[in-house]
Amino acid sequence: MRFWYLTKATRLSTHKAIRSLRMSSSSQNQPSRQTPTPTPTQTPDHDPPNWMTLKLPPAHILSHLTDAHCHPTDLDQPASAYDATSLGAVAAMATEPENQPKVRSVALARPWKKGDTKPSSSGSRIIACFGYHPWFSHRYTLQSPPPSKEEHYTSLFFPQHDSSTPPPTKKGQLLGLLLPFLPDPIEFGPLISQLSSDIRDSVSAGNLTMLGEVGLDGGARLRWPTSARHLHPDAETDDREGDNWNVLTPFKTSMAHQIAILERQFEVAIQHGVNVSLHSVAAAGPTFDTLVKMRDRHRNRFTNRINVDIHSGGGFSPDHWKQTERNLLNVYASPSIFVTSRSSHAAELIRTISKDRMLVESDSHDLTLCTRAVWGATEWIARCRGWKLEDENTPAWTLDEVIAKEEQEEQEGARTEERDEVWAVRTLERNFARFMNMAE
Ligand SMILES: [Zn+2]
Repeated sequence: MRFWYLTKATRLSTHKAIRSLRMSSSSQNQPSRQTPTPTPTQTPDHDPPNWMTLKLPPAHILSHLTDAHCHPTDLDQPASAYDATSLGAVAAMATEPENQPKVRSVALARPWKKGDTKPSSSGSRIIACFGYHPWFSHRYTLQSPPPSKEEHYTSLFFPQHDSSTPPPTKKGQLLGLLLPFLPDPIEFGPLISQLSSDIRDSVSAGNLTMLGEVGLDGGARLRWPTSARHLHPDAETDDREGDNWNVLTPFKTSMAHQIAILERQFEVAIQHGVNVSLHSVAAAGPTFDTLVKMRDRHRNRFTNRINVDIHSGGGFSPDHWKQTERNLLNVYASPSIFVTSRSSHAAELIRTISKDRMLVESDSHDLTLCTRAVWGATEWIARCRGWKLEDENTPAWTLDEVIAKEEQEEQEGARTEERDEVWAVRTLERNFARFMNMAE
């Protein structure tokens, strides 16, 4: 998830403020511009820790963790920033047609080779993730040749209105007014071909690869085009300048269109056998239904071959999560400080996710924040679950040793729940390796 209505320059300048606000605000769709409230140092047991000030463990411990979902190519970060990141790997998401090549090139420079269970010796490796984010799904059409703008946007924003022109309502009139300023619809077929070849090339080079960030968002609204600012009712009185003018329209892209765009991308993931990083906001029902549909359509090719990570837990309620886990054996969740903590039932959700379905992520686009955000989430998960947290007194270990120990315990018949010691970093590391089918 990103704040797509901000331009890159604004995102840079407001980045830190937004991050802090995300921790205290509820699931609003827009960042406000107040001064961030500092998080208290003493937090109740199940509140997230202050990720900005918490003490980091030694680098060898961090090197066992992977950020399962972040956006480092959103900012132009030098190679030295990747060298300086202590995490073992980061999964770098793509979101729009424009940033797929950036992900391709950073991931090629620091790939994580499939089957390599050794920790990285020089900064973070990158898992290439290609895909089209639901916030931009209004840009794409599944028709060829593309329909007119009027027909396209009417069908997306007024799905019940059986006509190729906007309805004669206030909202319909607004669409008519803004149409000249909206982009022409892009054919999705060629974008799918590009997606498929990016994923195929990355997989055949032996590099860990995923589909992402894709998904469904029931809350996202179209940004008011800045070129149509003069048409906004507040244009005269609102003196915010340039990039600071971030106003949303009432238009939401129909769930049917979002599902169609998502399904096309899922088909690519299933074809190439790659995992999916899935955005799900205010769309728990449609997300579940789409996953079940994929399961029923593809059976083993879906459930045994690929895994799905619900990014930041998707704001699922604990009950919804339980239902998802019961029905879909290949679904994981990766709590984050920035997004998951905004939900009032976050701690309960973390306690509900099965021990072997838990991953961890930052959702940061600033690479320099990924390590802190991932460590903060790891500490938070450990506290919510009563897991032990590795620290400077923990002797070095290898993933191979963790896997061998797990196999031995399985042979001895000790059930996971009965073992007294659960170590957070080793559990998350083992889960990520299982998620990526690295050691099966
Ligand atoms: Zn994201």
